[in-house]
Amino acid sequence: MKVELDLSKRPDAAPAPKSLAGLSLPALKAEMEAFGVPPKQAGMRAKQIRRWAHHMGCQDFMEMTDVAKDLREQLSESYHLERPEIADHQVSVDGTQKWLTRFQPGVEGESVFIPDVSKTGALCVSSQVGCTLNCTFCHTGTQKLVRNLTAQEIVAQILIARDEIGEWPASMENRRLTNIVFMGMGEPLYNLDNVAEAIDTISDGDGIAIGRRRITVSTAGVAPKIPELGARTGAMLAISLHAVRDDLRDEIVPINRKYDLQTLFEAIRAYPELGNSRRVTFEYVMLKGVNDSLAEARDLVKLLRGVPAKINLIPFNPWPGSPYECSDWETIEAFAKVVNRAGYASPIRTPRGRDIFAACGQLRSESVKKSAAEKRREALAQAE
Ligand code: SAH
Repeated sequence: MKVELDLSKRPDAAPAPKSLAGLSLPALKAEMEAFGVPPKQAGMRAKQIRRWAHHMGCQDFMEMTDVAKDLREQLSESYHLERPEIADHQVSVDGTQKWLTRFQPGVEGESVFIPDVSKTGALCVSSQVGCTLNCTFCHTGTQKLVRNLTAQEIVAQILIARDEIGEWPASMENRRLTNIVFMGMGEPLYNLDNVAEAIDTISDGDGIAIGRRRITVSTAGVAPKIPELGARTGAMLAISLHAVRDDLRDEIVPINRKYDLQTLFEAIRAYPELGNSRRVTFEYVMLKGVNDSLAEARDLVKLLRGVPAKINLIPFNPWPGSPYECSDWETIEAFAKVVNRAGYASPIRTPRGRDIFAACGQLRSESVKKSAAEKRREALAQAE
């Protein structure tokens, strides 16, 4: 005889356990309260978990020896401490490493670890998957925005890099991952709430312990958010300048049409605590015959007057179909000399990780590629 199962009587499937790794301290506290930890203890429990997860790199609640055993067991049933899946990992001949992280199906973003000869090293993290800005020389800019990353997802990129290069606990000596730069995919100032929350977690001395002065946020020029970034995060500021005249900047960094150079520089001057120990980094990509003349170098010096600054000259990194060429080496050196003579540090950035498409402006992700394919399908469907 066939038995009819009444599925509606079945208990709901238990919700999938959720990761606590990368959550900010306030978010951890809220999670503990929601879990039923008495409110008076929730803050303490959050701090314990934060230290184990973000300082020690622990991925198992049972190792948290100062947390009551019962609670450890209960936590293990409802939560985990795993990171998002690593969809791809590549290592360049120059030691640069790139991870493609799958935050959820179809939402993937890249992070790049750039170890330096001086034993320091920066992790370049993404703040969005895709970008809305359309800078003409940037590969990410040719893709559409998929979505903002959450604070937890931004922090997870650092946990993954630390796992992979073996740098737990955070207090270990001779760490190679010493700096964080928000120079991956996306415009961090269009996701400022999550970026600020992530920076609180990254700079927490009892957690990941990378100080605010070792964290740099780079923006293409969302002027109204620049002073707010400083006030909320205390991070170092970098500006993707790339042109010294509004007509050219309107073309290659189109956000300039909204916030022109004058508006941008007013905002930069209002960045908190600017001084000799706290300089703004200006990034200037060297595009052959576009923005690399000596007259432009001199105009750059004039534009920067009164702003404590360092100028990173970035040789253009090509990508398939990119409409520019990199300036000649002599041109870049001559440009650097003019800026340097005016008293500004003007290092020429050696491209890193070009062979694995990890260099500035080359980042893009599988999920963005997929949405481009979707776009094509949509276009075809419309044409039918
Ligand atoms: N949206 C932010 C964060 C991205 S940072 C910003 O614009 O600052 C990425 C840096 O790489 C920016 O300075 C960007 O202008 C630069 N860049 C983009 N494409 C590049 C390319 N093809 N070659 C060299 N640098 C590039």
